[in-house]
Amino acid sequence: MNTDEHVSTRAGLEGAAFLKDKTPGLAEPAGFESLGIACERSANHVLEQFAEIAPYQGWREAAYRIKQYALANLDKLLVELERNLKAKGIEVLWAADAAEANRLVIDIAQQHNVKTVVKGKTMVSEEMELNHRLAEVGVRALETDLGEYLVQLAGQRPTHIVTPALHLSAEDVGHLFADKLGEPYTAEHRTLTDIARRHLREEYLKADLGVSGVNFAAADTGTLVFVENEGNGGLSTSVPPIHVALMGIEKVIPSLDCLPVFLNLLGRSGTAQKLTTYTHILRGPAPGRKMYLILVDNGRTNLLADPHTRSALGCIRCGACLNHCPVYRRAGGWAYGWVYPGPIGSIVTPGLVGLDKAAKLPFASSLCGACSAICPVKIDIPHQLVYLRNRGVNQSSPVHSWIERLMWKSWAMAMGGSWRYRMAALGVRIGARLARFLPWKPWYLGAWMRGRDLPPVPPAAFRKTWKEEQ
Ligand code: SF4
Repeated sequence: MNTDEHVSTRAGLEGAAFLKDKTPGLAEPAGFESLGIACERSANHVLEQFAEIAPYQGWREAAYRIKQYALANLDKLLVELERNLKAKGIEVLWAADAAEANRLVIDIAQQHNVKTVVKGKTMVSEEMELNHRLAEVGVRALETDLGEYLVQLAGQRPTHIVTPALHLSAEDVGHLFADKLGEPYTAEHRTLTDIARRHLREEYLKADLGVSGVNFAAADTGTLVFVENEGNGGLSTSVPPIHVALMGIEKVIPSLDCLPVFLNLLGRSGTAQKLTTYTHILRGPAPGRKMYLILVDNGRTNLLADPHTRSALGCIRCGACLNHCPVYRRAGGWAYGWVYPGPIGSIVTPGLVGLDKAAKLPFASSLCGACSAICPVKIDIPHQLVYLRNRGVNQSSPVHSWIERLMWKSWAMAMGGSWRYRMAALGVRIGARLARFLPWKPWYLGAWMRGRDLPPVPPAAFRKTWKEEQ
């Protein structure tokens, strides 16, 4: 397999040829249906099992408080963590941004003459576009998490932070394996898993370096923790002689005693499991092996500096807010255009890349509050989205353009009186009818209608229908 095919830019979102035929409108290949069904099923499982757990709200409160304490004391905790990790023989490196983090990984790879890397799941490496950067210096990086492996094979990027290939059906995966691995087509789940396992097993043995993420890092003991379900993370970090762990600076927790509450919440919130199948607790390299931790900022201190968005850094990446979000369920991950989709992505991304580049994201929400109601660390997502909307429209950004302002002014004018409202509604009805028949759709209308159809125009105005029904 050619790892160069792992395209993580927007241009690469179209995916493998067999998926292109199924592109329905936005960027998601397999359509909204399977995504919506999978999210709903997962969300329901999460709600059912939490309904049966008496201390659930207590766990959430404890997790929230621990995270807020950790964020308020981040500087001290990170220094303590570094000191304790170094004492255990783990080399600790700091990266201000993605470019520096990539350079550090490449330096390590070149220092040890690394040719092949196996990777467990890490969203930080997606931020860094690490596979791309490694490919540029001749290092082959292979994803080993099954979902990540599938999207890498298909030349796509993850659609979900926990289940990256949520948009692919078993049939899609069968075609993908036939197309890329030369395997006989099947859509049988067990056979598909066996195929992936067979191909991946050899790779662990050949790899020179393993990369993983970090879910939690306990400052008091210098302990790194990551969780996973497939065993691939354990193999990626224990079979190759070198392990590089990538960690966002916000993952530090004060003490190992805080870990159980997060483990209780993470598996349950993400995949409705009591506990993730594997919990790896790393306390230093085995004899003769090397271990590095790269602490990545990459915009996190922007979020930290703003008291309105700071709590978003407490996110434990469980993905529950995505599964419960009516917008994400319809649009899917790629529609957000960034590494972190869904409600939390719409807060974190403007912090990481700048509000000027991502000002539209906070508007991709119905503000229904389903996300914060389920969030295990009680992040107040809707209020933060409203705050970012306000900032977006009050500074130079795509949502502050003259066309946006004109549209909102017109809307306010139309809503300012009964007669004006009726005239505007009449105009919209006539305009929508005309737009359907225009052979060429101009400007924004053209962009809108490339991926969607206009809703059918009702035969009569709502007020008229209402009156008649009364
Ligand atoms: S914001 Fe909350 S619900 Fe969403 S991924 Fe983070 S921890 Fe999970």
